[in-house]
Amino acid sequence: MTNKPADIVTPLRARKPCPECGKPSARESYPFCSPRCKAVDLNRWLSGSYAIPVRDDEEEDSTSSSEAGERS
Ligand SMILES: [Zn+2]
Repeated sequence: MTNKPADIVTPLRARKPCPECGKPSARESYPFCSPRCKAVDLNRWLSGSYAIPVRDDEEEDSTSSSEAGERS
């Protein structure tokens, strides 16, 4: 069990597998393998499948307004 870092030469641009299908990424659609996978990923973003921080302004607003009402 010896580490041989010299054997593993990392290329300047490491080839990442396509996040969508795992195929080797293509240059024109990096880091995806094809424009199609790129579109699929973008579509996922737009449809909200990714965890996107959402502001809780509305909830806070309703809480503070009820508090203000009690005070008066
Ligand atoms: Zn792909």
